[in-house]
Amino acid sequence: MPNLTRRSFGLLVGAGATSLALPYYARAQGKPKAVVIGGGAGGATAARYMAKDAGEDLDVTLIEANPAYTTCFFSNLYLGGFRDFDSITHGYDTLASNYGITVVNGMADAVDRDAKMVVMADGSKVPYDRLVVSPGIDLIYDSVPGYSEEAAEIMPHSWKAGPQTQLLKAKLDAIENGQQIVMVAPPNPYRCPPGPYERVSMMAHILKSKGLNDSKIVIIDPKPKFSKQALFQEGWDKHYPGMIEWYGPDVHGGIVKVDASTGEVETDLDTFQGDLVNVIPAQKAGMIASKAALANDSGFCAIDPASMRSKEDDSIFVIGDACIAGDMPKSGFSANSQAKVAAMTIRGDLTGSRVFPAKYSNTCWSLIETNDGVKVGAQYAPAEEKIASTSKFISQTGEDAGLRQATYEESIGWYKGITTDMFGA
Ligand SMILES: Cc1cc2nc3c(=O)[nH]c(=O)nc-3n(C[C@H](O)[C@H](O)[C@H](O)COP(=O)(O)OP(=O)(O)OC[C@H]3O[C@@H](n4cnc5c(N)ncnc54)[C@H](O)[C@@H]3O)c2cc1C
Repeated sequence: MPNLTRRSFGLLVGAGATSLALPYYARAQGKPKAVVIGGGAGGATAARYMAKDAGEDLDVTLIEANPAYTTCFFSNLYLGGFRDFDSITHGYDTLASNYGITVVNGMADAVDRDAKMVVMADGSKVPYDRLVVSPGIDLIYDSVPGYSEEAAEIMPHSWKAGPQTQLLKAKLDAIENGQQIVMVAPPNPYRCPPGPYERVSMMAHILKSKGLNDSKIVIIDPKPKFSKQALFQEGWDKHYPGMIEWYGPDVHGGIVKVDASTGEVETDLDTFQGDLVNVIPAQKAGMIASKAALANDSGFCAIDPASMRSKEDDSIFVIGDACIAGDMPKSGFSANSQAKVAAMTIRGDLTGSRVFPAKYSNTCWSLIETNDGVKVGAQYAPAEEKIASTSKFISQTGEDAGLRQATYEESIGWYKGITTDMFGA
């Protein structure tokens, strides 16, 4: 029997029907239906694990807006010329053919929680017994005054991978010696805490390898500190001396506005001119999460740390960037780890299979320069009110080149592993 909240327990008792108090698998007539919204790091993994582990006992449907998925992870390596675009783009065919998952290519527009139906943008409906919501993030464009969806065509955010990533790459490749790149970094919480700083490293790698030594990269950060700061700053001093300038809020005083028509980023301190401006605004859970009333005032969705079950609805699980995952960062690794806990719990709910205690893990690798990789990670377990970290590790400054190369090679193995875990082989 799943962990029932006080509210749903009251509903069951109130209904007074003993059959309703039985677990789903003991009373259902047809095959139970597990539906997933979002075929990214969280959703694709959850769909695959449910289909793979439940076999014929579960009907699994994956709803995804796009026909193919470009990973944000390793999109920085694409910018730096270490990967090509095809190698970070993956299709859903194997999930359909090898795992029997019904893949619905379309936009989920709403969730009718009373009827347990996902309502698609074309009006069609997909019924569920359990629903996994893994839509990733939406960008809050106006968190940076002057920025908008239209401005993003000139000042790309590239924080959702795909055409935006290709636009940023084209603009980076067009930079000439002496021209300046300006990044407006995001405030917490956002997907991939080290991501902006790995991106800057990869941009600097391109400038350096093309001999554009008079060009600079300026980071305007709304945060006073950032992930793996000492490691990045050591790496920037070593590989790209004088090329990267980072300004925290105590120096720039606040971001006043950006102007896509002039390439200006105005702060209290000064106005910075960018020939390429990369604006990464604040973030919230993907639209469907708030439309389904699963998100709270923070813009993200509260979950039960032991199961990933939504605090708003016992039949719904929210995983990945859209959820409030306690100490876990918003990363592909985290989403993949949370997906396995949700998939196991749903199988328990719907087929009566055994549910083991939840365990979570994460590692975030970043490449600073060729073969100079660093990492940060932790193990996690459910605590009373949140997913809590139980042990941590981080690369150290001053590590030797062999260890850094091994760390980079580990990340290549991880990419192969996680994409196989998501999309099958
Ligand atoms: C530059 C960058 C670098 C990164 N590097 C790393 C890294 O090295 N390691 C790491 O672990 N993480 C990294 N990340 C973070 C990682 O990409 C995200 O944390 C992860 O993708 C979150 O998974 P998710 O399932 O929550 O969302 P996503 O992977 O974004 O998947 C969401 C999916 O849902 C679909 N969708 C959304 N709404 C709907 C709807 N209404 N109907 C149908 N489909 C919908 C979207 O099309 C998308 O395919 C990086 C991120 C960035 C931006």
